[in-house]
Amino acid sequence: MLLRHTTPHIQERSALTINPAKTCQPIGAMYAALGIHRCLPHSHGSQGCCSYHRSTLTRHYKEPVMAATSSFTEGSSVFGGQSNLLQAIHNIFSIYEPDVIAVHTTCLSETIGDDIPQIIAAARDKKFIPEGKYVIHANTPSYVGSHVTGFSNMVKGMVSYFSEPGPQTKTINIIPGWVEPSDMREIKRLCAMMGTKTILFPDTSDVLDCPQTGTLEFYPKGGTPIADIQRTGQSQMTLALGRTASLAAARELDTKCKVPCEALELPIGLRSTDRFIDTLRRVSRVDIPASLEDERGRLMDIITDMHQYFYGKRVALWGDPDQLVSLTEFLVDLDMRPVYIVTGTPGKKFLSRIEKALQGKVPEAQVREGANADMFLMHQWIKQEKVDLLIGNTYGKYISRDEDIPLLRFGFPILDRIGHSYFPTIGYTGAMRILEKILGLLMDRQDRDAPEESFELVM
Ligand code: SF4
Repeated sequence: MLLRHTTPHIQERSALTINPAKTCQPIGAMYAALGIHRCLPHSHGSQGCCSYHRSTLTRHYKEPVMAATSSFTEGSSVFGGQSNLLQAIHNIFSIYEPDVIAVHTTCLSETIGDDIPQIIAAARDKKFIPEGKYVIHANTPSYVGSHVTGFSNMVKGMVSYFSEPGPQTKTINIIPGWVEPSDMREIKRLCAMMGTKTILFPDTSDVLDCPQTGTLEFYPKGGTPIADIQRTGQSQMTLALGRTASLAAARELDTKCKVPCEALELPIGLRSTDRFIDTLRRVSRVDIPASLEDERGRLMDIITDMHQYFYGKRVALWGDPDQLVSLTEFLVDLDMRPVYIVTGTPGKKFLSRIEKALQGKVPEAQVREGANADMFLMHQWIKQEKVDLLIGNTYGKYISRDEDIPLLRFGFPILDRIGHSYFPTIGYTGAMRILEKILGLLMDRQDRDAPEESFELVM
């Protein structure tokens, strides 16, 4: 009983979060920045923040995560971090030679009120930024938002600094939202199957899922080239996948370069993938290839064959809003019952998006977002009425152990398993992987609990 103090009695709280269902804003900014080719993320704050952000990404992706820090001391905490950042920009371009430094702030530098654009301008005046190199920034105070808003802010920053208007091309921008490198690769594969010309940004495939070659590349071959991000201002349109993580950047592109945008939920599960593929079909004016219809057909076959194991199963979910919305819709389509849903990422629209995903089929569902939507509340709900399955990040393993409920690891961070960064959950094949994992957990549990007389060889 690791969480032995959790009581089923719920006391409404206004100023206390216990075991948050989110992580810190700069982690998202760092992850997004790694999706630009030859970019070195820079944490403007103390060394401790940067170490925590790097280690969380490294533990999830099992890859080295490079980032620099302004290394605040007591002096910079009082007088501001301008001189530290100026020195850092000079050192980084001299020693590590990135094409771009992506600066994000932390709680401390935000509280001091450091003006990052002014510091970047000062660095340019001092000729600390070499010709053809860039410094971009995003404000990411962690006492508001979460790693998802940090990601969103940094992607918006990429548009603000890089995108340039020009004669329109037939290219479509895709902002993939916070998904795994494997998912970004899968989005590119689906677009290639549809014959759609795209610019995907950011793109962490081949950055955080690199093959082992025996040589450490400081800047791996992946990441969206800066020239491509500059050209996003000339594209036909932008598809923002996942409103929370992607819509702000898409709207910025519309405002800055008059590139219209459309927002879709993340293509996780059957129907949201259908909507994604149909949108590509519509905007590219092409037919859906037979090979893609076959992928969908295989997914439908699994759903039909195994429906009896999904039916009526109660599920608790936690994590990032964009994933939760699509996952909820998929579970409802499988006739499962997502009854408890929490995200620590604030956003009032989340509740209406989840309501739509529930399709009026799970009236008993309890949904919460923001500071008090934490793992403690989730555990209390589960103590009041149990569920059959947990779906969320590694922080749910304590509830899983205490309540003896199977856990499907999904989302960020996953600190104690591998596979999530290599095998996509996006698209039809990704949905098949989700189904395989859910079925494995439910059927293992059925085998474990079956009395001898009904322990079946064939299921
Ligand atoms: S919450 Fe603030 S102080 Fe803590 S690691 Fe994140 S940015 Fe740093």
